[in-house]
Amino acid sequence: MPGQPQNSREGSRFRDSDWCDWRWQAQHAVTDLQGLDDALTLNESERVGAARAMAAGLPISVTPYYLALCDPLDPDCPIRRQCIPRLEEAIAIRGDLRDPLGEQAHEVAPHLIQRYPDRVLLIATDRCGVYCRFCTRSRLVGDGGGARSMAALEPALAWIEAHPEVHDVIVSGGDPCLMSTGRIARLLRRIREIEHVDYVRLATRTPVTLPQRITDELCTAIRESHERTWVMTHFNHPKELSEEARTACARLADAGLPIMNQTVLLRGVNDDPQTLEALFRGLVGSRVRPYYLLQMDPVSGTGHLRTPLRRGIELMAFLQGRLSGIALPKLIVDTPGGLGKVPIGPNYIRSTRDGVTVLETFRGDLVQYYDPAEN
Ligand code: SF4
Repeated sequence: MPGQPQNSREGSRFRDSDWCDWRWQAQHAVTDLQGLDDALTLNESERVGAARAMAAGLPISVTPYYLALCDPLDPDCPIRRQCIPRLEEAIAIRGDLRDPLGEQAHEVAPHLIQRYPDRVLLIATDRCGVYCRFCTRSRLVGDGGGARSMAALEPALAWIEAHPEVHDVIVSGGDPCLMSTGRIARLLRRIREIEHVDYVRLATRTPVTLPQRITDELCTAIRESHERTWVMTHFNHPKELSEEARTACARLADAGLPIMNQTVLLRGVNDDPQTLEALFRGLVGSRVRPYYLLQMDPVSGTGHLRTPLRRGIELMAFLQGRLSGIALPKLIVDTPGGLGKVPIGPNYIRSTRDGVTVLETFRGDLVQYYDPAEN
């Protein structure tokens, strides 16, 4: 069985052709407590969290594929922690924000956010295969709007057209790959008409949560509609690098589409060095470049998933020297309020004096580096 579901149970039979069909996966996503209960042995926190999510807040959606990656018995499974609501989502903690990146304040046209001079983010849909419990955009995903029509996006596209300083458009959501191939292609072609846009980034978690979506037809359509498209995806745990996910990445890479990965640092999911090392090695082996390790945004209801800043710095210190540069992401804090990303990490400079800097290597050696004489 392609999906190798760990938690398939009596009564949850399906055909191989269904399992491999992304539309079947999307249509059969579990969206309620009953569906989760049928697939997993829920604990009290998950049960209450799911009931609460159905009544208010970030809705539930888990594709059968992603649900099959969950350990059916262990509520601390790293996949479960990402997709199954918990009671703790109701707990507010210091620093929580509904819109941590200040996107509403940075909306320059309907569905268009600008936080940096040279790039914009276009919200093409509110739908995702899986609603991730840590989502920065939880205030709007699954809000019922669905895919935005070309007419609804036209004011945003006209705004980009009128701003030649914009060179980079991130097509995001929600997850734009939940839209039909035709709709994605039309949108990319429209963006390609804007001469000063040098490249497009298609931000999608489907390689992780719905890898069946990455068909040869989709890859060809993306490539033919805008040949300078980068795919930005979002693997958080090595368990997500299943055979199907690696096939999806291979399809994208074989189609000539560069793939970059952002990992969110999540408590109880990937906040240990061995997990991150395995994840980053696995990504590079799948031709995916891990480029950011993101300190989690302080979005409301996610305090139980966040780590202190020092944890990320400790993890980066562990990974430095163990992983080659192409496997080592930058640790980033996207500052609350939408004021921009700040790279952080261990400090390897021990002292600087009279043009001599003492550096500490990953092995703990102290090495002097001499600046050239200044003229
Ligand atoms: S796929 Fe992306 S936009 Fe959708 S819920 Fe997950 S993190 Fe949020």
